[in-house]
Parts: sequence; structure tokens; C-alpha cells
Amino acid sequence: MKLLIIGPQGSGKGTQAEILSEKLRIPHISTGDIFRSLQGPLKKKVDEIINKGNLVPDELTLEILKNRLEKEDCKKGFILDGFPRNLNQARLLKKITKIDKVIEITLDDKTAIKRITGRRLCKKCKINYNIFTEPKPKNPEICDECGGKLVRRKDDTENAVKKRLEIYKKETLPVLKEYDNILTINGNQSIKEMTEEIINNLELKTD
Ligand code: AMP
Repeated sequence: MKLLIIGPQGSGKGTQAEILSEKLRIPHISTGDIFRSLQGPLKKKVDEIINKGNLVPDELTLEILKNRLEKEDCKKGFILDGFPRNLNQARLLKKITKIDKVIEITLDDKTAIKRITGRRLCKKCKINYNIFTEPKPKNPEICDECGGKLVRRKDDTENAVKKRLEIYKKETLPVLKEYDNILTINGNQSIKEMTEEIINNLELKTD
């Protein structure tokens, strides 16, 4: 099953993609995660773009995605998160593969900004927290599990989030017009409720 998950920043698409990936045993491919894990000379250039909340050029993004989709683990399917981000990317994706289902998650800007600016990550054990919503750490700067320092992504500041949301509306939302197999889920509910709704609606067979 080839799935695509689309939603504004803070809608929980990464979390849902991770859960679905485990349940369906298909890889979760996040172009944002791939960019964040880059090393070497490309890293500095890409980090600069990401930290301002802008999009990485299509050519580079597509090359990175193509390489990932060619790996053996994608043969059975995958769940794509963060790609396509604009119409050009959607059209290029169509040339390399066919998507079975698109999951669209909706969320209002106010909630999105609150969720994103509250997002924290433990530098040491990589657990995710949120200082405004659950899972809330006991101390906003320290990991409950390992005592590691909690950090914020550089593009999770209010300014960068506003920019990312603007790009989402202008460039990413029009991508939905390219698909007729869309399941729309309200992002303003619990993680568990959202997963149940997705699984039930897509009639996905899970363990
Ligand atoms: P994300 O983790 O999906 O929020 O992505 C973080 C950042 O990575 C985005 O704000 C962009 O700068 C960059 N990025 C991720 N996916 C793409 C893409 N498909 N096209 C261009 N830039 C992307």
C-alpha cells in the first residue's frame, strides 16, 4: 500500500505516519527527517533554508526522494510524509509511482501554532514532548525519562511556523486537486482517535 499523508505543521501527520508504518509494516518516509539527517557539505545549505521555514529546491528534494524509494524496503509500499509539497513535486511523483490513498489531516492555524511552538525533543534519547499539550514534561527543559536537555527545532519558532503555514496553504494544499482518493481527518482530536478513524476508513488490515 502506497500512502501519502498531507496536513499543516502540527496536525500530527508525522505521528500518524509513524503509527501506520508500524501497523502496516511499511516504511515511513519523511523528507523533513531525511533533510535533518544530512551530513557533509550539503547540510549547511539545507539547514539554512529549513531554519527560515522555506522549501528546499524541488530538484534536490526529488533526487533524495527517488533514491529512498528505490530501496528494497519500499517494494511493499510506504507512507510518504512531507512530500509532495507543491504541484511540481506532485506531478514529478506521478511519473515515478502511483499513490493508492491520500490521508489529509486538517487543523486550524491557532492550534497548529500552539502545538508547534510547544514542541520539544530530548537531545539525548529523542523522545518528543510538548510544553502546552500532552505528552507534557514535568520540567519544560528536562526529559522525564533520561534527564537529557529538551530542545526546540530551529524552524519551530513562531515566525518560521507562520511562514511554513503560509507556504502550506499556498503551495501544498493545491496538491490535493491532483488526487481523487482522499480521506480527510480532523486533526483536532486525540492521536488514538485519529488512528482509529484512519484505520476504519481505509479498511486497513493491521495486526
Ligand atoms: P517537515 O519535517 O516535514 O516539517 O519539514 C521540515 C522542512 O524541511 C520544511 O519546512 C522544508 O524546509 C523542508 N522540506 C521537507 N520536505 C520538503 C519537500 N517535499 N520539499 C521542499 N522542502 C521540504
